[in-house]
Amino acid sequence: MAAPINVNTGSGGQNTENEDSDLCDFLFTLSDLAEETMTQLPVLIRRDECKACTRPIRVCWCPYLPPKPIDIKTNVYILQHPYELSRCLRTAPMLVRSLPSEKCHVIQGKKFPRSRHPDLLEVMESPKTIMLSPGPDAIDIETLPLTDITEYNLILIDGTWAQAKGIYYQNPILKIPQKVQINYSSKSKYIIRTQPNDSSLSTLESAAVALSILENKPDIIDILTKPLVALCNFQLQHGATSHQSKEYRIKNGLWTKKLPKSWLKKQENAENSKTNDAV
Ligand SMILES: [Zn+2]
Repeated sequence: MAAPINVNTGSGGQNTENEDSDLCDFLFTLSDLAEETMTQLPVLIRRDECKACTRPIRVCWCPYLPPKPIDIKTNVYILQHPYELSRCLRTAPMLVRSLPSEKCHVIQGKKFPRSRHPDLLEVMESPKTIMLSPGPDAIDIETLPLTDITEYNLILIDGTWAQAKGIYYQNPILKIPQKVQINYSSKSKYIIRTQPNDSSLSTLESAAVALSILENKPDIIDILTKPLVALCNFQLQHGATSHQSKEYRIKNGLWTKKLPKSWLKKQENAENSKTNDAV
């Protein structure tokens, strides 16, 4: 803090020794003030980032993480598309930081050939390995046999929906484990990102629901999704808008882009089944 400014201009236009000393004090004080202002200015204009979550400090979600990593038996493997790293709003880091490091593994890449990933291959071949991948060959995760000592390996693919699909189809080793799906009635809390349909969940939410079942701890969902809810609230306060799912927007005439082929095909199949029912 700079000293208070105290200027004695004296009288008669002649500078005495004391007056010179006062002037020096004044100049030093001015110099101190300038220095202080300069050191404060960057603080005001700099976009300070939290080093842990890389979000600006004012929207940092770190305080919403559990106070210590959640104790789980399940081993979580996240196969992450490399582009995920460049996106600023991601949910996988929230999951990684909420779980013990020895229980949560992130493997980045688009292709995971057997030769380059022998450890991953071993995991995939384990009868305890399941992969979250909804579809006709997936079983309901709630039907899995569970005991207090069951230690599943849970595989998740982290990326946009298209990237996740691409990773799944390009990697034969991902066909090995048992596919599971979750039946979760609540809508995604990730309301600032457009989900494909009302039952689609983010990587964090999918993992939270799966872990709540595998660990038989229903409160895991709220604990794990707390930072996500905080992130969405921050974004909404700073001008982001709440996104309806793609399915909702198409059904309600709010979709302004070209209709996706998959949607048109679904509509065509629905129409055909209606016609067949009528016959
Ligand atoms: Zn943070």
